[in-house]
Amino acid sequence: MSQRKFFVGGNWKMNNLKKDNEKLIDLINNANINYDQTEVLVSPPALYLDFVRQKINPQVHVAAQNCYKVEKGAFTGDISPAMIKDCGGDFVILGHSERRNVFGESDQLIGEKVKHALESGLNVLPCIGEKLEEREAGKTEEVVFRQMKHIADNIKDWAKVVIAYEPVWAIGTGKTASPQQAQDVHAQLRKWLASNVSQAVADSTRILYGGSVTAANAKELATQPDIDGFLVGGASLKPEIVDIINARA
Ligand code: PGA
Repeated sequence: MSQRKFFVGGNWKMNNLKKDNEKLIDLINNANINYDQTEVLVSPPALYLDFVRQKINPQVHVAAQNCYKVEKGAFTGDISPAMIKDCGGDFVILGHSERRNVFGESDQLIGEKVKHALESGLNVLPCIGEKLEEREAGKTEEVVFRQMKHIADNIKDWAKVVIAYEPVWAIGTGKTASPQQAQDVHAQLRKWLASNVSQAVADSTRILYGGSVTAANAKELATQPDIDGFLVGGASLKPEIVDIINARA
């Protein structure tokens, strides 16, 4: 088990109306959570950032699920880090596999977004992960190292960064990576950080696992030495998110 502070994020994706958000907020506000031991983040759709920030425990990070790479301008339909901050958000998830694969975002664009979000004062939670065919072709490391390089090249202050490794084949499919499969990639990513950034950054940066995390599998995943927490989709909309947050408690 790592000494890095445990971190659990709930990625609500494009789900829930205000009344459902209120229930999730009540659930978290009333749960027994040791915030000294675990950092907690929720990521509602951007329309609800302000609503969630006003109601949720102030110790919980509130994240947008995406943003653009500049502060303002003629970019219909998009939002900027400045707007996320203005609505009380302190984090942004970037490069989620649904952004990459459904909306066609490139490594280059994700890198530019990471750079601008950090320069704007947000914390960032960049996501990386291989597809099933890439894993089966033995290309997992090649893919995640490439994705990581585009992100790392745009980071100066690693204290504001939490990485999520989310194998695409495990997202929303009910197929979790086994603790060993996840640990192996996390260890490789940490080695990559040591060789390409610094040993200090490799030692201190949280690397979360994401992909069909549930209350049933979280405890064992959380014992792996290089898994520092989770980014949770489906289960973050259910009461079991509290057990996932408390997976190391
Ligand atoms: P899932 O999603 O937990 O529903 O697999 C994880 C994610 O996409 O962040």
